[in-house]
Amino acid sequence: MAAYVLVAPASESEALAELAAAPEGTIAVLAGGSDLLLDLEEGLRAPRRVVSLRRLPWRRHRWLSGGLEIGSTEPLADLEADPELAARCPALAQAIAAVGSPALRRQATVGGNLGRAAPASDLIPVLLALDAEVELVSGSGTRSLGLDRFLRASRVTALAPTELIRSVRCPEVRTRSAYLWQRVRPSNDISQIGVAVAWSPGERRWRVSLGGSPPRPVLAEDAAAELAGPNPGETELARASERLAAHPALVTDRRASDEHRRRLAGTLLDRAVRATMAPGRPAP
Ligand SMILES: Cc1cc2nc3c(=O)[nH]c(=O)nc-3n(C[C@H](O)[C@H](O)[C@H](O)COP(=O)(O)OP(=O)(O)OC[C@H]3O[C@@H](n4cnc5c(N)ncnc54)[C@H](O)[C@@H]3O)c2cc1C
Repeated sequence: MAAYVLVAPASESEALAELAAAPEGTIAVLAGGSDLLLDLEEGLRAPRRVVSLRRLPWRRHRWLSGGLEIGSTEPLADLEADPELAARCPALAQAIAAVGSPALRRQATVGGNLGRAAPASDLIPVLLALDAEVELVSGSGTRSLGLDRFLRASRVTALAPTELIRSVRCPEVRTRSAYLWQRVRPSNDISQIGVAVAWSPGERRWRVSLGGSPPRPVLAEDAAAELAGPNPGETELARASERLAAHPALVTDRRASDEHRRRLAGTLLDRAVRATMAPGRPAP
Protein backbone atom coordinates (compact mmCIF):
# COMPACT_ATOMS: atom_id res chain seq x y z
CA MET A 1 0.00 0.00 0.00
CA ALA A 2 1.39 3.41 -0.99
CA ALA A 3 1.82 6.01 1.78
CA TYR A 4 -0.70 8.82 2.03
CA VAL A 5 -1.48 11.75 4.30
CA LEU A 6 -4.76 11.39 6.24
CA VAL A 7 -6.63 14.60 7.09
CA ALA A 8 -9.90 14.97 9.00
CA PRO A 9 -11.33 18.44 8.46
CA ALA A 10 -13.70 19.76 11.13
CA SER A 11 -15.99 21.60 8.73
CA GLU A 12 -17.65 21.13 5.37
CA SER A 13 -15.85 24.17 3.90
CA GLU A 14 -12.44 22.81 4.96
CA ALA A 15 -13.24 19.41 3.43
CA LEU A 16 -14.34 21.03 0.16
CA ALA A 17 -11.21 23.22 0.12
CA GLU A 18 -9.10 20.04 0.37
CA LEU A 19 -10.85 18.60 -2.70
CA ALA A 20 -10.61 21.86 -4.67
CA ALA A 21 -6.86 22.20 -3.97
CA ALA A 22 -5.89 18.65 -4.97
CA PRO A 23 -4.82 17.80 -8.52
CA GLU A 24 -7.32 15.29 -9.98
CA GLY A 25 -6.69 11.68 -9.02
CA THR A 26 -4.43 12.49 -6.05
CA ILE A 27 -7.07 12.60 -3.32
CA ALA A 28 -9.64 10.13 -1.95
CA VAL A 29 -12.66 10.65 0.29
CA LEU A 30 -13.11 8.34 3.28
CA ALA A 31 -16.41 7.81 5.13
CA GLY A 32 -16.59 4.46 6.96
CA GLY A 33 -13.78 3.03 4.84
CA SER A 34 -15.34 -0.43 4.37
CA ASP A 35 -14.76 -0.22 0.61
CA LEU A 36 -12.04 2.39 0.30
CA LEU A 37 -9.58 0.86 2.77
CA LEU A 38 -9.74 -2.47 0.89
CA ASP A 39 -9.02 -0.63 -2.38
CA LEU A 40 -6.01 1.08 -0.79
CA GLU A 41 -4.70 -2.18 0.68
CA GLU A 42 -5.04 -3.93 -2.66
CA GLY A 43 -3.33 -1.04 -4.47
CA LEU A 44 -6.40 -0.37 -6.64
CA ARG A 45 -6.14 3.27 -5.66
CA ALA A 46 -3.04 5.20 -4.60
CA PRO A 47 -4.05 8.71 -3.47
CA ARG A 48 -1.49 11.06 -1.95
CA ARG A 49 -4.08 12.48 0.44
CA VAL A 50 -7.15 10.92 2.07
CA VAL A 51 -9.88 13.20 3.45
CA SER A 52 -11.86 11.61 6.26
CA LEU A 53 -15.42 12.93 6.65
CA ARG A 54 -15.66 11.59 10.20
CA ARG A 55 -15.75 14.97 11.93
CA LEU A 56 -18.39 16.55 9.69
CA PRO A 57 -21.86 17.08 11.22
CA TRP A 58 -23.53 14.69 8.83
CA ARG A 59 -23.71 11.59 11.04
CA ARG A 60 -27.45 11.73 11.72
CA HIS A 61 -30.85 11.35 10.11
CA ARG A 62 -34.12 13.18 10.68
CA TRP A 63 -37.74 12.50 9.91
CA LEU A 64 -39.21 15.32 7.82
CA SER A 65 -42.89 16.03 7.41
CA GLY A 66 -43.71 12.80 5.61
CA GLY A 67 -40.11 12.10 4.52
CA LEU A 68 -36.64 11.10 5.70
CA GLU A 69 -33.24 12.79 5.33
CA ILE A 70 -30.13 10.71 5.98
CA GLY A 71 -26.76 12.38 6.53
CA SER A 72 -24.27 10.77 4.18
CA THR A 73 -21.77 9.80 6.90
CA GLU A 74 -24.21 8.30 9.40
CA PRO A 75 -23.20 4.69 10.08
CA LEU A 76 -25.88 2.23 8.93
CA ALA A 77 -26.03 0.76 12.45
CA ASP A 78 -27.19 4.13 13.87
CA LEU A 79 -29.99 4.35 11.33
CA GLU A 80 -30.89 0.72 11.99
CA ALA A 81 -31.13 1.49 15.72
CA ASP A 82 -33.94 4.02 15.15
CA PRO A 83 -37.03 2.23 16.55
CA GLU A 84 -39.25 4.00 14.00
CA LEU A 85 -37.40 2.80 10.92
CA ALA A 86 -38.91 -0.67 10.52
CA ALA A 87 -42.49 0.64 10.92
CA ARG A 88 -42.11 3.77 8.81
CA CYS A 89 -39.91 2.44 6.05
CA PRO A 90 -39.68 -1.38 6.15
CA ALA A 91 -37.82 -1.73 2.84
CA LEU A 92 -34.98 0.46 4.06
CA ALA A 93 -34.76 -1.43 7.37
CA GLN A 94 -34.64 -4.73 5.44
CA ALA A 95 -31.93 -3.46 3.06
CA ILE A 96 -29.75 -2.17 5.90
CA ALA A 97 -30.10 -5.48 7.75
CA ALA A 98 -28.90 -7.20 4.55
CA VAL A 99 -25.60 -5.28 4.44
CA GLY A 100 -22.70 -7.46 5.64
CA SER A 101 -22.57 -7.99 9.41
CA PRO A 102 -23.44 -5.85 12.47
CA ALA A 103 -19.74 -4.92 12.73
CA LEU A 104 -19.64 -3.80 9.09
CA ARG A 105 -22.80 -1.74 9.58
CA ARG A 106 -21.14 0.19 12.41
CA GLN A 107 -18.58 1.31 9.81
CA ALA A 108 -20.48 1.50 6.49
CA THR A 109 -22.48 4.58 5.54
CA VAL A 110 -25.23 5.41 3.03
CA GLY A 111 -22.98 8.01 1.35
CA GLY A 112 -20.25 5.41 0.92
CA ASN A 113 -22.71 2.91 -0.54
CA LEU A 114 -23.86 5.48 -3.11
CA GLY A 115 -20.29 6.67 -3.74
CA ARG A 116 -19.27 3.09 -4.47
CA ALA A 117 -22.32 2.56 -6.72
CA ALA A 118 -21.80 -1.21 -6.79
CA PRO A 119 -24.23 -3.24 -8.94
CA ALA A 120 -24.97 -5.51 -5.95
CA SER A 121 -25.68 -2.69 -3.48
CA ASP A 122 -28.65 -3.53 -1.26
CA LEU A 123 -29.39 0.09 -0.41
CA ILE A 124 -29.58 1.50 -3.94
CA PRO A 125 -32.60 -0.52 -5.16
CA VAL A 126 -34.56 0.54 -2.08
CA LEU A 127 -33.55 4.20 -2.38
CA LEU A 128 -34.62 4.10 -6.05
CA ALA A 129 -38.00 2.68 -5.04
CA LEU A 130 -38.27 5.45 -2.42
CA ASP A 131 -37.59 8.06 -5.14
CA ALA A 132 -34.54 9.34 -3.24
CA GLU A 133 -32.68 12.52 -4.11
CA VAL A 134 -28.95 12.87 -3.53
CA GLU A 135 -27.74 16.23 -2.20
CA LEU A 136 -24.29 17.12 -3.49
CA VAL A 137 -22.13 19.98 -2.25
CA SER A 138 -19.02 21.63 -3.70
CA GLY A 139 -17.23 24.98 -3.35
CA SER A 140 -19.66 26.45 -5.86
CA GLY A 141 -22.86 25.43 -4.04
CA THR A 142 -25.27 22.53 -3.71
CA ARG A 143 -27.33 20.57 -6.19
CA SER A 144 -29.87 17.79 -5.88
CA LEU A 145 -30.04 14.88 -8.25
CA GLY A 146 -32.60 12.11 -8.42
CA LEU A 147 -30.79 8.87 -7.58
CA ASP A 148 -31.57 7.43 -11.01
CA ARG A 149 -29.64 10.34 -12.61
CA PHE A 150 -26.85 10.17 -10.04
CA LEU A 151 -26.04 6.56 -11.01
CA ARG A 152 -24.24 6.31 -14.32
CA ALA A 153 -22.78 2.80 -14.60
CA SER A 154 -21.09 0.14 -12.50
CA ARG A 155 -19.13 2.16 -9.89
CA VAL A 156 -19.63 5.35 -11.87
CA THR A 157 -21.72 8.26 -10.60
CA ALA A 158 -22.42 11.87 -11.51
CA LEU A 159 -20.26 13.03 -8.57
CA ALA A 160 -17.61 15.57 -9.68
CA PRO A 161 -14.09 15.24 -8.18
CA THR A 162 -14.65 18.42 -6.14
CA GLU A 163 -18.08 17.34 -4.81
CA LEU A 164 -19.23 15.47 -1.72
CA ILE A 165 -22.50 13.68 -1.01
CA ARG A 166 -24.00 15.59 1.90
CA SER A 167 -27.30 13.75 2.36
CA VAL A 168 -29.92 11.53 0.81
CA ARG A 169 -33.59 12.54 0.99
CA CYS A 170 -36.63 10.32 0.60
CA PRO A 171 -39.48 12.77 0.00
CA GLU A 172 -42.23 10.42 1.17
CA VAL A 173 -41.91 7.69 3.75
CA ARG A 174 -43.45 4.54 2.32
CA THR A 175 -44.81 2.27 5.01
CA ARG A 176 -46.03 -0.12 2.30
CA SER A 177 -42.58 -1.14 1.07
CA ALA A 178 -40.42 -4.25 1.07
CA TYR A 179 -36.98 -5.45 -0.07
CA LEU A 180 -36.14 -9.08 -0.77
CA TRP A 181 -32.85 -10.49 -2.01
CA GLN A 182 -31.19 -13.78 -2.92
CA ARG A 183 -27.59 -14.85 -2.21
CA VAL A 184 -25.67 -18.09 -2.47
CA ARG A 185 -24.53 -17.83 1.16
CA PRO A 186 -26.94 -15.52 3.00
CA SER A 187 -24.57 -14.56 5.82
CA ASN A 188 -21.38 -14.11 3.85
CA ASP A 189 -22.06 -12.93 0.33
CA ILE A 190 -23.51 -10.12 -1.75
CA SER A 191 -26.88 -10.24 -3.48
CA GLN A 192 -27.27 -11.96 -6.86
CA ILE A 193 -30.56 -10.11 -7.15
CA GLY A 194 -32.56 -7.72 -5.01
CA VAL A 195 -36.12 -6.51 -5.61
CA ALA A 196 -37.60 -3.46 -3.88
CA VAL A 197 -41.25 -2.37 -4.03
CA ALA A 198 -42.87 0.73 -2.55
CA TRP A 199 -46.41 2.05 -2.75
CA SER A 200 -46.65 5.85 -2.83
CA PRO A 201 -49.84 7.08 -1.14
CA GLY A 202 -49.14 10.59 -2.52
CA GLU A 203 -48.68 9.57 -6.15
CA ARG A 204 -51.00 6.57 -5.86
CA ARG A 205 -48.57 4.30 -7.69
CA TRP A 206 -45.96 1.64 -7.07
CA ARG A 207 -42.26 1.94 -7.72
CA VAL A 208 -40.37 -1.29 -8.36
CA SER A 209 -36.60 -1.64 -8.69
CA LEU A 210 -34.07 -4.34 -9.42
CA GLY A 211 -30.54 -4.69 -8.05
CA GLY A 212 -27.73 -7.23 -8.15
CA SER A 213 -27.38 -7.43 -11.91
CA PRO A 214 -24.68 -5.29 -13.56
CA PRO A 215 -24.09 -2.56 -14.47
CA ARG A 216 -26.34 -0.84 -11.90
CA PRO A 217 -29.67 -1.09 -10.05
CA VAL A 218 -32.60 0.14 -12.14
CA LEU A 219 -36.25 1.08 -11.85
CA ALA A 220 -38.70 -1.33 -13.46
CA GLU A 221 -41.54 0.93 -14.54
CA ASP A 222 -43.34 -1.64 -16.71
CA ALA A 223 -43.68 -4.05 -13.82
CA ALA A 224 -44.79 -1.25 -11.47
CA ALA A 225 -47.51 -0.14 -13.93
CA GLU A 226 -49.01 -3.65 -13.93
CA LEU A 227 -49.58 -3.48 -10.18
CA ALA A 228 -52.06 -0.63 -10.66
CA GLY A 229 -53.78 0.11 -7.30
CA PRO A 230 -52.64 -0.36 -3.70
CA ASN A 231 -53.93 -3.93 -3.42
CA PRO A 232 -53.13 -5.76 -6.65
CA GLY A 233 -54.97 -9.03 -7.22
CA GLU A 234 -53.61 -12.35 -8.51
CA THR A 235 -53.80 -11.31 -12.19
CA GLU A 236 -51.97 -8.02 -11.64
CA LEU A 237 -49.30 -9.73 -9.53
CA ALA A 238 -48.76 -12.42 -12.16
CA ARG A 239 -48.45 -9.81 -14.95
CA ALA A 240 -46.08 -7.64 -12.94
CA SER A 241 -43.90 -10.66 -12.10
CA GLU A 242 -43.77 -11.67 -15.77
CA ARG A 243 -42.76 -8.14 -16.77
CA LEU A 244 -40.02 -8.02 -14.17
CA ALA A 245 -38.68 -11.43 -15.19
CA ALA A 246 -38.37 -10.13 -18.76
CA HIS A 247 -36.50 -6.96 -17.74
CA PRO A 248 -33.45 -6.35 -19.99
CA ALA A 249 -31.34 -5.41 -16.95
CA LEU A 250 -31.26 -9.07 -15.88
CA VAL A 251 -28.00 -10.31 -17.38
CA THR A 252 -25.37 -12.98 -16.75
CA ASP A 253 -22.20 -12.28 -14.76
CA ARG A 254 -19.86 -14.36 -12.62
CA ARG A 255 -22.36 -14.42 -9.73
CA ALA A 256 -25.51 -15.61 -11.56
CA SER A 257 -26.93 -16.38 -14.99
CA ASP A 258 -29.65 -14.23 -16.52
CA GLU A 259 -31.95 -17.28 -16.43
CA HIS A 260 -31.44 -17.70 -12.68
CA ARG A 261 -32.05 -14.00 -12.12
CA ARG A 262 -35.21 -14.08 -14.26
CA ARG A 263 -36.63 -17.01 -12.30
CA LEU A 264 -35.97 -15.19 -9.04
CA ALA A 265 -37.11 -11.72 -10.09
CA GLY A 266 -40.77 -12.63 -10.59
CA THR A 267 -40.93 -14.67 -7.38
CA LEU A 268 -39.28 -11.97 -5.27
CA LEU A 269 -41.61 -9.31 -6.68
CA ASP A 270 -44.67 -11.42 -5.91
CA ARG A 271 -43.50 -12.08 -2.34
CA ALA A 272 -42.45 -8.49 -1.72
CA VAL A 273 -45.80 -7.02 -2.78
CA ARG A 274 -47.68 -9.64 -0.74
CA ALA A 275 -45.50 -8.77 2.27
CA THR A 276 -46.67 -5.15 2.05
CA MET A 277 -50.30 -6.30 2.10
CA ALA A 278 -49.89 -8.68 5.04
CA PRO A 279 -52.35 -8.33 7.94
CA GLY A 280 -51.13 -5.77 10.44
CA ARG A 281 -49.55 -3.61 7.76
CA PRO A 282 -50.87 -0.03 7.60
CA ALA A 283 -53.69 0.64 5.14
CA PRO A 284 -52.63 2.43 1.93
C1 LIG B 1 -17.14 -7.79 3.84
C2 LIG B 1 -18.04 -6.80 3.15
C3 LIG B 1 -19.38 -7.11 2.97
C4 LIG B 1 -20.24 -6.21 2.33
N1 LIG B 1 -21.54 -6.55 2.17
C5 LIG B 1 -22.40 -5.67 1.56
C6 LIG B 1 -23.77 -6.01 1.38
O1 LIG B 1 -24.23 -7.09 1.76
N2 LIG B 1 -24.58 -5.11 0.76
C7 LIG B 1 -24.11 -3.88 0.34
O2 LIG B 1 -24.89 -3.09 -0.21
N3 LIG B 1 -22.79 -3.54 0.49
C8 LIG B 1 -21.94 -4.40 1.08
N4 LIG B 1 -20.62 -4.07 1.25
C9 LIG B 1 -20.15 -2.79 0.71
C10 LIG B 1 -19.95 -1.64 1.72
O3 LIG B 1 -20.01 -2.00 3.06
C11 LIG B 1 -20.86 -0.47 1.40
O4 LIG B 1 -20.65 -0.04 0.08
C12 LIG B 1 -20.70 0.69 2.40
O5 LIG B 1 -21.98 1.24 2.53
C13 LIG B 1 -19.70 1.76 2.01
O6 LIG B 1 -19.73 2.79 2.99
P1 LIG B 1 -18.39 3.36 3.63
O7 LIG B 1 -18.81 4.52 4.49
O8 LIG B 1 -17.61 2.30 4.31
O9 LIG B 1 -17.65 3.88 2.32
P2 LIG B 1 -16.12 4.16 2.04
O10 LIG B 1 -15.39 2.90 1.88
O11 LIG B 1 -15.59 5.16 3.02
O12 LIG B 1 -16.28 4.89 0.63
C14 LIG B 1 -16.78 4.18 -0.50
C15 LIG B 1 -16.67 5.12 -1.72
O13 LIG B 1 -17.57 6.21 -1.62
C16 LIG B 1 -16.86 7.46 -1.60
N5 LIG B 1 -17.55 8.27 -0.58
C17 LIG B 1 -17.89 7.88 0.68
N6 LIG B 1 -18.61 8.84 1.28
C18 LIG B 1 -18.69 9.88 0.40
C19 LIG B 1 -19.32 11.17 0.45
N7 LIG B 1 -20.02 11.59 1.52
N8 LIG B 1 -19.21 11.97 -0.63
C20 LIG B 1 -18.53 11.55 -1.73
N9 LIG B 1 -17.94 10.33 -1.84
C21 LIG B 1 -18.02 9.51 -0.79
C22 LIG B 1 -15.43 7.11 -1.22
O14 LIG B 1 -14.53 8.06 -1.72
C23 LIG B 1 -15.28 5.75 -1.88
O15 LIG B 1 -15.01 5.91 -3.25
C24 LIG B 1 -19.74 -4.96 1.87
C25 LIG B 1 -18.38 -4.63 2.07
C26 LIG B 1 -17.55 -5.52 2.69
C27 LIG B 1 -16.11 -5.15 2.90
